[in-house]
Order: sequence, then C-alpha cells, then structure tokens
Amino acid sequence: MATVNYKCPNCGGPLKFNPDKQMFSCEYCMSDFEEQKIQQMYAGQEAQQSREEKKENDARYENSAQNDGDDVEDAVVYTCPSCGAEVVTTASTAATTCFYCQNPVVLGGRLSGEFKPDRVVPFELTKEKAFEKFTELCRKKWFLAKGFANKKQFEKINGVYFPYWYIDSQRQADMSATGEKVRTYRAGGKRYVETSTYRLFRSGDLIIKNVFERALKSEDREMLQCVHPFDLSKARNFSMSYLSGFQAEKRDLEKEDVNAEVENRIEQYAQQLLKDTMSDYTAVRVEKYSDKIDLESWNYTLLPVWVVTYKYKGRIYPFAINGQTGKTYGELPTSKGKLAVLFAAVTVAVFVLAVLGGMLLL
Ligand SMILES: [Zn+2]
Ligand SMILES: [Zn+2]
Repeated sequence: MATVNYKCPNCGGPLKFNPDKQMFSCEYCMSDFEEQKIQQMYAGQEAQQSREEKKENDARYENSAQNDGDDVEDAVVYTCPSCGAEVVTTASTAATTCFYCQNPVVLGGRLSGEFKPDRVVPFELTKEKAFEKFTELCRKKWFLAKGFANKKQFEKINGVYFPYWYIDSQRQADMSATGEKVRTYRAGGKRYVETSTYRLFRSGDLIIKNVFERALKSEDREMLQCVHPFDLSKARNFSMSYLSGFQAEKRDLEKEDVNAEVENRIEQYAQQLLKDTMSDYTAVRVEKYSDKIDLESWNYTLLPVWVVTYKYKGRIYPFAINGQTGKTYGELPTSKGKLAVLFAAVTVAVFVLAVLGGMLLL
C-alpha cells in the first residue's frame, strides 16, 4: 500500500490541514502554506500513486475473484513513511494517523481511479472547537457521570472524512388527483353546503438537488445522516492533501446499493412539489403519478465530521459533530432520546410548472 505524508518544505515536519486558517500548517516550525502550493508540490506523487494503486487494485480484484467473494473487511498493512512501523488499517481507511509516531499518513490509492471523490468539504471547525461543543452539551446534562467531558475524551475525538453520495435529478413528472372545494351559503332561511369535486392534472419539469445518502455501510446510518446539513457551496474539487491530519474512509456502498432508497425519496419530494400546487383544494387524493428522468448526476463527496465514540455501562455511544457547522448529533449517557432529528436538507427548485388547472367534474 503506497502512502504519502505531506512534508513541510522548510523543515520536513509533517503538514496537516488547518481548519482555522484553511491552510496547511507545520507544527514544528509554525509555517503555513497555501493549498495550491502543496497541491502543486505533490501533484506528481499523487498521480504516480494512483498508477501503482491501480495495479494493486487489479491484482487484489483477481485474487478476490478466486476467493468465494465474501465481503469480509480484510485488514491491510502499510509502512509508515515517517517511522517505518508497520501499521494495520481496515480496507476502507484512506487516511489515518500512525499509531506509533502520531504522524499523518494518507493512503492515497484508496481514493484513486473510480474511487476518486468528486469533491470534498474541508474541515472548518478545529478539534478544540469541536471539543467545546461537546463539553457544552455535557454541562447541560445534570446527571452526567462526573468528569465525563475530560481531557481523555478530547484525545478520543477524531476528525473523519466520511463518504456520501449527492444526487441531483431533473425529471418530467405528471400527476392526476381529485380534490374538493366546499362552499356554504344561506338561501330562503336555509343553510346549504355545496361540495364540488374536481379532477386535477399537474405536469412539470422538476429539478431536485442535494439529495444525499451515506456511502459507507460500517458506520451508524442515523449518525451519518443526522449530522447534516452541510454547506455544499464550500465544496472543493477533491485533492488528497486535504486529508492530511485526518482520517478518511473510502466508500463501500455503490449507486446500485442506495439507488432504491434515493429514488424513493426523490419521488416523494417530486410528488410533494406537485401537491403543493393544489393547496386551493381540500381532501386531495393522488390517483396517478409518473415521472421520467431527464438528467441525473451522482457526486461522490467527502464530508468532515468530528467523532467521539465512548463506552458507558457496556454500551457504545457514537457522538458526532459536523466539522463545518458544529451541529451535534448523539446521545450522552443520561440523556433521553436523540439530540437531532433527521431532516431532509433538500433544496428544491421548480422550473416550469405547466398547470393545466382544475377541471370541474360536476
Ligand atoms: Zn516546518
Ligand atoms: Zn509512524
């Protein structure tokens, strides 16, 4: 397994991506470097790695074809470029810290070829700020075990880039439904209620953006979905150097694995958009809905999350902090229920809505 660690051009110390400065920093000589400079310096090395990795992947593929094809995560051994120690990681790890010398190591090839992410949202929240968020929440919990939010927990906070799929879809949708309008009036001393039933048709070109789904099966799905939303306008084109100083996971869920779930959600959003145009009617009942995909794009995206996992009374609790916004997700030992509610961060745009209107049936 080929590894890179990004070294300081001044002193050779390890370089880490600094969320506060949005630059690469050397903790030894306190120098900061622009992203661009580091990316230029290492561009050749990254490309070379991709080629080596591709060969390795091909070989591995041939090997696994000879096995029974079970997808047990196999451990992988790599050599730390700083201290030479042999370190074991799982097959999905793409960046980590050397267990022995604590230097950052990027296993670049894990994210090359078809596994190269389209984009990455860099960390904006530092580890210190993430820990503050964590202790803030701990303080609010009255019955929390004493000294729970201590220095040891701080050491255990890991910055991890998790893989996600982001889907934008443009589709042509048609819906037919029935709806009612009720009118009451008085005439000749009597009160009348008139209910009119309408047959409704709606047809439109819909654009639904930023539908997301986690692309890693080994982690808690709820945690990975609930740390959203992220501001995708700050996403950058992927470069391995962003991973330096963090952990990163490579996707192990493909489009086919999540497509049914994604498709289902997009259809719900699409139906809701069309139904929203029927708000003048009551008792709306959808009779038929169909759509046709005009354009759909899938973006493989790495998102920054600070994670603490802790064991309490024999149970493992995951706690996550959005590495961009500081939004927290998780359960503290004494808290009731989840802190975050899953919600769909979806931006929706309706382009042309050719409304054919309500046609009176009666
Ligand atoms: Zn340095
Ligand atoms: Zn090492």
